[in-house]
Amino acid sequence: MLWGDSVALVTGASRGIGKAIAEALCAKGARVYLCARNLEAVTAAAREISCGGGAAVGLQMDVGRPDEVKSGIQAILREAGRIDILVNNAGIRRDKLLVRTQDCEWQEVLDANLSGSFYCTRQAIAAMSRQRYGRIVNVGSVVAFTGNAGQANYAAAKAGLVGLTRSAAREYASRGVTINLVAPGFIETDMITSLPEPVRRQILAAIPMGRLGSPREVADTVAFLASPEAGYITGQVLHVNGGLYA
Ligand code: NAP
Repeated sequence: MLWGDSVALVTGASRGIGKAIAEALCAKGARVYLCARNLEAVTAAAREISCGGGAAVGLQMDVGRPDEVKSGIQAILREAGRIDILVNNAGIRRDKLLVRTQDCEWQEVLDANLSGSFYCTRQAIAAMSRQRYGRIVNVGSVVAFTGNAGQANYAAAKAGLVGLTRSAAREYASRGVTINLVAPGFIETDMITSLPEPVRRQILAAIPMGRLGSPREVADTVAFLASPEAGYITGQVLHVNGGLYA
């Protein structure tokens, strides 16, 4: 498989880490589909990336809705004929102490961060299996390993993603499909800039490198695991966190 023949889907790609991943894959030569719930924002992101010379297409798709995932991935297969790379990046957080977390806030976070990755994987992996080639990269989080007060829903969803990654990797290794997980620490995106200043200061103090990571640093790691060269790596977790968790 050559980068220039590859077709990729990056979920949650209208901004932040997902957009940087889409840009990195596009720069390698892949045809990249970007999805998010807000069509206007994801179309604008795709247009911006295409200006760099690659092929990028925006798609409205809520990963927490299996019907939308099914029709979205079927549309990609109809148009592009194949799907080689799936990056399950879409995610949200609804931080609250455990006892104050409402059922809907628990469910919403699980739907976007965990069930969404399952729906997309289930839909794409059938095509990858037929092709005898595929790369799936899940975007997890350091809090799956450390836990974090106020993030029981988010940490549980991201920990579930580790189990999904390892199980799917074992099921599909013989079909040429690799499934790995990149676990970012704290990365400079809207998800972090929305945190109160004292919390940001506390986070920075805990990072041995003394700085937040950039979306590009996560994107380059994902691009490596999504590359044809990473064919003997599967079921692994790769941490990108400035030494925060080692
Ligand atoms: P972000 O800036 O908030 O962007 C999230 C993206 O996901 C947006 O494009 C959003 O667009 C999309 N999205 C959210 N829910 C969706 C859904 N149900 N279906 C489809 N798209 C959806 O977040 P980020 O910081 O780039 O984070 C990206 C991933 O990295 C997430 O999985 C996050 O948990 C993980 N992560 C981030 C950090 C960090 O420090 N930033 C650290 C560890 C892990 P719409 O709202 O239009 O759908």
